[in-house]
Amino acid sequence: MVNHTRIALAAIAVVIPLAMVATLYTDSEPQTRNSAGSNRPVVVASFYPLYEFASQVAGDRAEVSSLVPTGIEPHDWEPTFNDISTVRSADLVVINGAGFEAWSEEIDSVRLIDTSEGIEQEEEGLINPHFWLDPVLAIHQVERIRDGLIAVDPENADYYHERADRFISRLNSLDSLITSELADCQKSDFIAFHDAFAHFAKRYGLTQHSILGVSPEGEIPPQRIEQVIALANELDIIVIYAEELIDSRLAETIAAEIRGGRVLVLSPMEGIDKEEQQAGVGYIEKMEENLANLKEGLDCR
Ligand SMILES: [Zn+2]
Repeated sequence: MVNHTRIALAAIAVVIPLAMVATLYTDSEPQTRNSAGSNRPVVVASFYPLYEFASQVAGDRAEVSSLVPTGIEPHDWEPTFNDISTVRSADLVVINGAGFEAWSEEIDSVRLIDTSEGIEQEEEGLINPHFWLDPVLAIHQVERIRDGLIAVDPENADYYHERADRFISRLNSLDSLITSELADCQKSDFIAFHDAFAHFAKRYGLTQHSILGVSPEGEIPPQRIEQVIALANELDIIVIYAEELIDSRLAETIAAEIRGGRVLVLSPMEGIDKEEQQAGVGYIEKMEENLANLKEGLDCR
């Protein structure tokens, strides 16, 4: 009886992944453009920063949605059957790339824009996918989205160009702001929650350390906590950074072991909560908040 059940369960486990593959390979024609019946192209972005960049470029000429819902951490997120069919029926799919969206490997490449394509990626070890946190690399991602939108909707090319230029000029101003605001700091080392600020740190001449690795989720061995406390003491770091989508208790535990230690948020911008979104907070505003909190941690003037 027990064996029989096990076999049945094993069969189900095999059937599910095959069914997923089947939905990916059949139905190759894009479905009707959108439920509202308008002719606006339907754009599906994988998670928050790509959604924000695509929305900035698309304005009101395309319908942009985010596959990973608001407020959900995208690292370990996996699409449902419905998500896959949303992706399949989109006119344009926008991803970060560099392995962040493992599910995208099964999507046909014609309508898929990998926004990190063309960014020189480090050869040594694993590629760090957090390009969007470096405003200069974000510009590259915005340009890729702009070109993708123009390819599916050439009639609105001028519109997309103009909107992309406007957002790119805001990103350039942000880059200048960060450079000038971090020009006079006592420290150049900081402890991020997970390894999301590698590109950012490189851009602005800082050294990022992190409690966790390339993903913010997973087990943390007690030795790691001790190492981080020792590192903070050695480098005279008193601010430990937390993230808004992850329980802050780990950062608080570490900060409590450091003399004068405290916790601030350094957002990897992997998701934004509904209140922020409704209040009109976007990428630029979140980066400015990050900058303010970073200036405290780095002891800047
Ligand atoms: Zn991350």
